[in-house]
Amino acid sequence: MWSSQLKGIWQSFAFRLCLWFAGTFTASAVILFALLYILLTSFFEQSEREIIRARLKECAAVYESRGLLALDGLVHRSEFDQNEGPFFVRVTGPQRSVLLLLAPRDWLAEPDITAEANEAGQNAWLRIPKDDRSEFIIASTQLGDGSILQVGRSMNRSQTLLGPFLSSFLFVMAPTLLLGLAGGAIFAHRATSPVREIMRTARTIINTGNLAERVPESQAQSELAELARQFNRVLEKNQALIRAMRESLDNVAHDLRTPLTRLRGSAELALQSDSDAQTREALADCVEESDRVLTMLNTLMDITEAEHGMMRLHRDRISVSELMENVVELYRLLAEEKNIEIETAFSGSCYSDIDPNRMQQALANLIDNAVKYTPEGGHIFVACAQADNTIEARVRDNGIGIPPEEQPRIWDRLYRGDKSRGQRGLGLGLSLVKAVVEAHGGQVKVQSGPGPGSEFTVRLPIGARIEAAIHS
Ligand code: ADP
Repeated sequence: MWSSQLKGIWQSFAFRLCLWFAGTFTASAVILFALLYILLTSFFEQSEREIIRARLKECAAVYESRGLLALDGLVHRSEFDQNEGPFFVRVTGPQRSVLLLLAPRDWLAEPDITAEANEAGQNAWLRIPKDDRSEFIIASTQLGDGSILQVGRSMNRSQTLLGPFLSSFLFVMAPTLLLGLAGGAIFAHRATSPVREIMRTARTIINTGNLAERVPESQAQSELAELARQFNRVLEKNQALIRAMRESLDNVAHDLRTPLTRLRGSAELALQSDSDAQTREALADCVEESDRVLTMLNTLMDITEAEHGMMRLHRDRISVSELMENVVELYRLLAEEKNIEIETAFSGSCYSDIDPNRMQQALANLIDNAVKYTPEGGHIFVACAQADNTIEARVRDNGIGIPPEEQPRIWDRLYRGDKSRGQRGLGLGLSLVKAVVEAHGGQVKVQSGPGPGSEFTVRLPIGARIEAAIHS
């Protein structure tokens, strides 16, 4: 159990974020430390060399101007070693004979030091290790008479600085690192809290099936807060979609029950009937009801296909005015039976890049509704015109109208208005109009009230091909 908990912590995003934070912090501190150490040691060494070089110059000048005796007087004066001393000074003659030697006590204790110092070349730096902590550093120069002047002093090895430097660094860094880790852990925990909330919400939805569950939103402008907000929008959309699907499934089941019950009744009647004529009549009813069910299912599938962009559109350059005129002719007889006058106004051919069959079906639904929902003696106005790159087709009637509260729902599958129950219909006509028009890249709108009838407006783009032909 412990091991699985540890594994969980190790794999957690917040823990890894914290580790990254601590790792980067430590690496930067170590790099800073190393740089500082290199800079400090090189600075110390540089200043040591400056001191030796200055003394070398001073001694050489005294020797050249006033001779060996003057130099001897200078180096044995107590001020010579004050402040920066003690120094090692030696003048070696042409036959390696030592003409002058000033050596601090610790230098003389070293048996080889003077011998090694002999090896120092002209103008070269010679370093001779003394012990673990220090070393001798000697500079030499050739004097005018061929003698070699050497000046040196002992200094701490650069490594000796490392110890105290490291301990003071650790003294400062250890609490800083601990503080950084704690701060990093708190920061990572807080920063990843929206992710944990999203995970908790997703888990609850999966376990309980409660689609109303949401991630608590904050006003923060961070990416994770935005992710939580977008996640909620996705959940809202999904919930609305699933609700709509359930409703339409309920509606389909409900709407199929009536024709199927009638179908069953007719089939039973056909079975029980003794007369041929009655049997044939019952079977004809069966066919009629089956057709009704089939039409409903086919239309439902057409709507779904169009809505999901899967409807195959055989587009062509078609005159929408002509298409509407044909539909009007189809309905003229039906309208005349109700004593309804259909007035048309087609300004121009109004070409658009459309599938003629699908669009004719959509426009026929609008004119069919206008005839259906307009009482005897009414009036229908059908028009088509082109405005810029859009074709505008209108169907207006002075029929029963649509109450404002019903208007948003008339586009839903299987929705039928209260006043239209007495009329034939499946409640799929306008859903199909909307789906087909939108599949063509167009829009459909309604303007209606209970009094003055209804006006449906379909706006279609003329289509890329026609637009190109116009401009060429
Ligand atoms: P159906 O006509 O089969 O009921 P539709 O999808 O074509 O289904 O229309 C949905 C609803 O919109 C209708 O039931 C009706 O209430 C309303 N409606 C549509 N067209 C008109 C119209 N021209 N006048 C009045 N109401 C209409």
